Amino acid sequence: MRFLFLCGVLSTVISAQTAEMKLHVDATDASRHILHASMTIPAKPGPLTLLYPEWIPGEHGPTGPITDLLGLKITAGGQVVPWQRDAVNMYAFHVTVPPGATQLDVVYDFVTPPEAAGFTSGASATTELAVLNWNQVLLYPEGTNSDQIRLQATLKVPNGWKYGTALPIAHETGNEIEFQPSSLTTLIDSPVSTGAHYRTIELGDSLGPSHFLHIAGDSERSIQLSDELIEHYKSLVLETGALFGSRHYRSYHFLLTLSDHVASFGLEHHESSDDRIGERGMIDEVSRKVNSDLLPHEFTHSWNGKFRRPAGLATPDYSEAMKGGLLWVYEGLTQYLGQILTPRSGLLTPEDFREDMAIYAAALDRKFGRTWRPLEDTAVAAQLLYNARDDYAGYRRGTDYYDEGTLIWLEADVLIRDLSKGTKSLNDFCKLFHGGPGGVPALKTYTFEDVVAGLNSIQPYEWADFLNKRLHSTAPHAPLGGIENGGWKLTYNTTRSEMWRNREEDSKVVNLNYSIGLKVSEEGNISDVAYGGPAQKAGVSPATKLVAVNRRQYYPVILREAIQSAVNSPAPIELLVKNGEYYQTFKIDYHGGEVYPHLTRDESKPDVLSKIIEPLVKKK
Ligand SMILES: [Zn+2]
Repeated sequence: MRFLFLCGVLSTVISAQTAEMKLHVDATDASRHILHASMTIPAKPGPLTLLYPEWIPGEHGPTGPITDLLGLKITAGGQVVPWQRDAVNMYAFHVTVPPGATQLDVVYDFVTPPEAAGFTSGASATTELAVLNWNQVLLYPEGTNSDQIRLQATLKVPNGWKYGTALPIAHETGNEIEFQPSSLTTLIDSPVSTGAHYRTIELGDSLGPSHFLHIAGDSERSIQLSDELIEHYKSLVLETGALFGSRHYRSYHFLLTLSDHVASFGLEHHESSDDRIGERGMIDEVSRKVNSDLLPHEFTHSWNGKFRRPAGLATPDYSEAMKGGLLWVYEGLTQYLGQILTPRSGLLTPEDFREDMAIYAAALDRKFGRTWRPLEDTAVAAQLLYNARDDYAGYRRGTDYYDEGTLIWLEADVLIRDLSKGTKSLNDFCKLFHGGPGGVPALKTYTFEDVVAGLNSIQPYEWADFLNKRLHSTAPHAPLGGIENGGWKLTYNTTRSEMWRNREEDSKVVNLNYSIGLKVSEEGNISDVAYGGPAQKAGVSPATKLVAVNRRQYYPVILREAIQSAVNSPAPIELLVKNGEYYQTFKIDYHGGEVYPHLTRDESKPDVLSKIIEPLVKKK
């Protein structure tokens, strides 16, 4: 976001534009998956190019849903103005503004996809609720920085629906909301959630700004959070104040959407976040635990990602390509802070936190793709990897800069504590790097060198070398120094941890990655095989269907029992697999039993990890 430029560098020439555009969005047909919109755009006679937002902040890729923009008609003073799409840039429309015209009138519809995954261009509306991201329903003139473009928006929501947003409101009449004029940057940064079953909970005003949790759910039951859970979110607000020391927003709004029929993800904004999980994500304990770090992660982005942002991700508008090479800071540090804020706020117990850490540390440590693809390349190629398939995922590697970022930043945190003899920690780095006067949104970009300088000012060390080694490594194992020097070890045994069970139950996938080396759904769909693992070596391939185990119809329990029985039998485990229209039998000569990861205390070292996840704010 570009409200203030403290040290950003702009790569295009900026021309000031002060004339205000108007945007009206009619969301009363949202449940039919269509939004109606119109704009008036001040214009001078002559050629003009209108752009549809392509590179969406926080999505780190060219994900603007141009395919779903329909019915585009442009007029000036009632006269039709023909448009022509650019032959190369699918997001650009060329027009010639007729002589005498001072503005263009533009009408169009936007179709929201039913039941589709993805970020904001995925499913975003049901019969009970909708989330509006403004970038999907507007065009803007080419050649002007999005901070300089002024817009005044109005929104009509379905009758009787409530709503929440960080965008300041001017007037409200019936179901029509008139917002205060803002920059295009702020408008796109301020989505609106609305719904028939809707609640707004105040979370307190620590360090000045007020905080709100707006919840839209597909049922009344879904939005009935327990008082205990609300207290944890209030603690989250206090903990971020203690961690960062200042806030870079006027007020903060969590827009939490609970539905099994909208895309599940979180998307950060400066003054809000668009957080979407299943309908029972706040009332079913399994689902709640699995998603417990979502709000802490997205909230952390207000500081790390929005206020502080890699220079390559701070583009002047939505048409310039973003460069994701520093996503191991943008997402990796956010992942680490979001995860440690979760137990600090009481959203997970320390044991649940450690079990979760064991799950992703093991996943990274056993990933075959580490030997060809260094971590930094997963960040550079982020725009490809968010949409990568599940098959051969361990060989391909995915958006590993999230979880491996956690391991690296944990290692840095433990190292700072060790080198400073307990007087400094990564908390001090956060105050220095993400602090400042606060109060209003601002953008302060950074480079790799700035990160190194920030770390050095807290604790001198060879930080550039430390980071470069981890970013460019093609060693077969993950950087586990933070866990090990933090007083714990990654170990394996035959027992599933509670968090492992929760994740299997939530995803409906049986994860046998560390034993026979495959992931299979409850229905038998083999989503992936561990490259180099027993199943893959025996010939099993991903994207096939498991039909039978040792000649008996597949059910998860049948497969687990077969793996357990093979420990005391020389016979291989026999899988009947359907690959396309053909059936194949594979014999897996594996006798090691079930294998699941854990963190085990190493008594020879101080327990730094437990110290890190202690609340910073003393409980009353
Ligand atoms: Zn994130």
